[in-house]
Amino acid sequence: MMRLQGKTALITGAARGIGLAFARAYVNEGAKVALADIDISRARAAAAEIGDAATAIELDVSDQASIDAGVAAAIGALGRIDILINNAAIFTAAPITEITRADYTRAFEINVAGTLFTLQAVARHMIAERIEGRIINMASQAGRRGEPLVAVYCATKSAVISLTQSAGLNLIRHGINVNAISPGVVDGEHWNGVDALFAKYEGKASGQKKAEVGANVPFGRMGTPEDLTGMAIFLATDEARYIVAQTYNVDGGQWMS
Ligand code: NAD
Repeated sequence: MMRLQGKTALITGAARGIGLAFARAYVNEGAKVALADIDISRARAAAAEIGDAATAIELDVSDQASIDAGVAAAIGALGRIDILINNAAIFTAAPITEITRADYTRAFEINVAGTLFTLQAVARHMIAERIEGRIINMASQAGRRGEPLVAVYCATKSAVISLTQSAGLNLIRHGINVNAISPGVVDGEHWNGVDALFAKYEGKASGQKKAEVGANVPFGRMGTPEDLTGMAIFLATDEARYIVAQTYNVDGGQWMS
């Protein structure tokens, strides 16, 4: 049985990586999806590969006008939005003494303001249309505790966990469930960038950090985007209706809370 038959989903940052895996998994469960990304050419290619159930939307989550236009375009293409996955984010790393204001501002604009104001735009639509919707934010184990070289990204993901709690509590009265998924280390282009930053700041060889973090996961390896799709589907189903304002670790045993 397809678990998301007849549902529609807007997924930000869906041109590659985890967001793209979510889009594929949702379509396999019967949903129609809008792949929203700042990289529109890649989002278009991904949507074309998925097929008729997918459409690409240009959306920069750090720009309010782009959020408004992108959400309107998604509603136009899908008819309505039942599910939002706030997945777009950037990673940044530097020792405390080298963090720049520009890097800080960009990370908070995309990871935090992007999550909040995309959630706001979609929540307004859901409330106006009386849609008992689902909103899933992408947190991170980085949001559960600090890291010496990752202060800014960690702080953005702590903020995502906190916003999930507040928005979850505020919106459940409208029948909208807001929850989050907290991955550990997930292989892909994102982590290639992380590896390059650790190579720079910790003097490691290319690929060394990735091998180390993978070996340290209790499960025995890094995650794949597909390791996260089960939770993303479950949180969008009716079976998850009584789950409110939670952040779930899906990380091979990395973090317990
Ligand atoms: P990724 O870097 O591979 O993909 C991110 C996507 O977001 C890209 O397609 C990019 O173009 C898009 N994007 C970037 N800025 C944007 C903007 N301003 N507006 C719209 N789209 C934008 O990342 P991923 O590994 O697939 O991670 C997805 C989510 O999971 C992120 O929230 C990330 O923080 C989180 N996460 C990832 C890991 C990991 O190890 N990969 C671990 C924990 C949490």
